[in-house]
Amino acid sequence: MKSAKGVYRFDEGSLSMKALLGGKGANLAEMTRLGLPIPAGFTVTTEVCAKYQASGSLSDETFEEICATLSDLENKQSAWFGHSDCPLLVSVRSGSVTSMPGMMDTILNLGLNDFTVQGLAKQTGNERFAYDCYRRFIQMFGEVVLGIPALHFDHALEQMKKDEDCISDQEVNAEQWKKLVLRYHWLVEAQTGKAFPQDVYVQLRMAVGAVFKSWNNVRAKVYRKLYSIPNEQGTAVTVQTMVFGNRGDDSGTGVLFTRNPSTGDKEIYGEYLMNAQGEDVVAGVRTPRSIIELKDDLPEIYAQLTAVAEQLEAHYLDMQDIEFTVENRQLYVLQTRSGKRTAQAAVKIAVALVDEGLLPKEEAVSRIEAGHLDQLLHRSIDRQAQLQVIATGLPASPGAASGVIALDAQTAEGLAREGKKALLVSLETSPEDIQGILAAQGILTGRGGMTSHAAVVARGMGKPCVCGCDGLSIDLEQRSVTIGGRTFNEGESLSIDGATGQVFSGIVSLTEPEITPELLTLLEYADEIRELKIYSNADTPADAAKAREWGAEGIGLCRTEHMFFSDSRLPVVQAMILAGSKEERIQELSKIMPMQQADFEAIFEAMDGLPVTIRLLDPPLHEFLPNQEHLVKQIRELETVGAEGEDERERLKATLAKVRTLQERNPMLGLRGCRLGILFPEIYDMQIEAIFKAAKAVLGRRIEVRPDIMIPLVGHANELQTLRKLVDDVARQVLFGEHKDLQYKVGTMIEVPRAAIVADKIAEHADFFSFGTNDLTQMTFGYSRDDAEEKFLNSYLEQQILPANPFQSLDEEGVGELIQWAVAKGKSKKSFLKTGICGEHGGDMQSIVFCQQAGLDYISCSPYRVPYARIAAAQAVLASQIAEPQR
Ligand code: PEP
Ligand code: MG
Repeated sequence: MKSAKGVYRFDEGSLSMKALLGGKGANLAEMTRLGLPIPAGFTVTTEVCAKYQASGSLSDETFEEICATLSDLENKQSAWFGHSDCPLLVSVRSGSVTSMPGMMDTILNLGLNDFTVQGLAKQTGNERFAYDCYRRFIQMFGEVVLGIPALHFDHALEQMKKDEDCISDQEVNAEQWKKLVLRYHWLVEAQTGKAFPQDVYVQLRMAVGAVFKSWNNVRAKVYRKLYSIPNEQGTAVTVQTMVFGNRGDDSGTGVLFTRNPSTGDKEIYGEYLMNAQGEDVVAGVRTPRSIIELKDDLPEIYAQLTAVAEQLEAHYLDMQDIEFTVENRQLYVLQTRSGKRTAQAAVKIAVALVDEGLLPKEEAVSRIEAGHLDQLLHRSIDRQAQLQVIATGLPASPGAASGVIALDAQTAEGLAREGKKALLVSLETSPEDIQGILAAQGILTGRGGMTSHAAVVARGMGKPCVCGCDGLSIDLEQRSVTIGGRTFNEGESLSIDGATGQVFSGIVSLTEPEITPELLTLLEYADEIRELKIYSNADTPADAAKAREWGAEGIGLCRTEHMFFSDSRLPVVQAMILAGSKEERIQELSKIMPMQQADFEAIFEAMDGLPVTIRLLDPPLHEFLPNQEHLVKQIRELETVGAEGEDERERLKATLAKVRTLQERNPMLGLRGCRLGILFPEIYDMQIEAIFKAAKAVLGRRIEVRPDIMIPLVGHANELQTLRKLVDDVARQVLFGEHKDLQYKVGTMIEVPRAAIVADKIAEHADFFSFGTNDLTQMTFGYSRDDAEEKFLNSYLEQQILPANPFQSLDEEGVGELIQWAVAKGKSKKSFLKTGICGEHGGDMQSIVFCQQAGLDYISCSPYRVPYARIAAAQAVLASQIAEPQR
């Protein structure tokens, strides 16, 4: 229901009003209710934002409501907006429902003009401070509201400092700030053709509008797309009485996490700057001090802050990220929100909160973000590697990365487009760099602390990041970076370890991730909740062992063709394909058989006691043969060497002729999958024989083996009927009455739409269905995946013709409908039919939720995705419980 009010004072709201007040507004309201020291203020709702987006302006009615609420604030503060003696100053900030740090705009010190600045100077007895605030306000307002590029302000500031012989901002005195204010006034007039607005109500109206407008700036849009935040959600705007951390040496500002956001350890963690205003800490311009030092600087404030941290964590039952300001030794809390954290920290904190009796296991599991699990599967530096540490910065976001130096976001993007790995190296990053950060393997900055922009964004994205690397300097003209006393040109490589803060020259070797004890605990919680079984796609014994180590309960897809591609096997496979007769082919196949058998034995051993689904040969045969153009070139070259090359030339010519006969107009829809098995039964015959011989061999070694044989690309029940008979016949021949208790299954992939439609008929011959959603998506949409992704899918996504890439996230409306239909039809024929999915969607969160709803028995994903899938499957159950509450 729409609210009649568009503006809420903090004492009128609560946390439950997050959708209306945004995260920041709802939390400020909640903290006001808790009696914490919050500067008074109010929030303009997300509904007003929606109206603003529709009409492009703030209505008179809403502005009147804002002014009426502001007048309440004036009475409470005994300060008046625009008053020349006792001016009320406010901050105007965005506050979206889902936290989007740094993505939208903020304006501080609003309410200053040429008169109120004098009032502020008198009131505080500090003219320097007042004009410092005023110049900051003009700059922020100029950039955010009037759209003047920051560099103009920076230039004017540098020029003034040069003229006045000042090196740092700290040296600038009141008169000099006044001069800068004048320069800024000229600048605004020159850039916009209008004087800087002196009417504080005009300032307020424009500022609120600009913050709403920033919902649609490029970086906010990119961020929303990345984190799937709906565009309709909108942002609220909070207007809050200013408190000043830059009022002198008894003032300061900082950010505090109630637990360590990098490791998850239970310790207060954060940074602050004395005599600084709001954005100085997060902007990363000055390197801040650790919060622990506040114990010495302002012990009473440190004690108060520790108590606030404890109270907020116990209230929100989660690690909090708290912004605070100290004004003349008086503490104010400006914001609290659930703290962004690394994946390691997320897991550690979730498990710790369960141990501390604060959270039920289900809640701990449902809080883990899919992206965090991705991060946990991050690489690290190989400790055996010869390392040359050239510098050390702050370990801002874990994971290791190597890449070609890119000195700006565009270069990083360009390198990524060329398929190269880039490392974004910069003095500091700003929200505009988000696409470059996204494109880079990792980020290295010279300035800024653990809460700087680069650090926060990198942690959120799971990108390795090292921040505040002292001594890093960049020469943008020469396109080079100097670090640790060495100079590297753009295009050379560097590596970083975001877990230790170390920087290395060149590319270093990386190792794969491991499961920590906390993750193991969380995975065990997830296993208690989930209903879907988690299998893995694995083609090699090593992958199978890895999958099992990470918790896979079976192999859902072993693509046997991958066993054909190794250098030693390919010539035999090619000889088999090129064979002139069936007899010749059988002879070549007999050479491949022991190799396949050995692979199966090793996989069965690794999966002792668990099902192993082996898919018989699927791709078109030409995939194993040499490329035609390459052959033609070789033949031409041999022609130049005369008689000497004759034999080889004839051999290549024969190969070329065969390759040409196997060429198809549309191989993906041609002679592949079960069609191969029907035309060349000797190929499947060999594979089935290898499977059962391997099963027999490992049974002899007391291994429990459960082979599930899977026929690809079935579209008609007769195909499966024919091939099932082949499997049963070969099994009988190989087992020869022995091992009667060997339980094997024969099933099919459902990856052709027709198979889904006639699933009841197909089920008559199948023990299981495995949805091959890669092909099923291709064939349902009629897209060839590679062509689609190369040619038109991006445009489709940009134009919102498709809501998401259907190859990444299952198209529930179309492909999903076919799956549900097939499950229902299949089970109508065979109630015990086992169903699962083995396309890439098996590793995607949303798709896993769908599989749970569709009643599948298992999902199969890549080995490294298994822990992710275990959690996702548990979250799918929890989500369905919320959707259908127990009566
Ligand atoms: C599928 O089509 O979903 C599948 C798993 O098979 P492949 O990707 O090997 O074609
Ligand atoms: Mg397929």
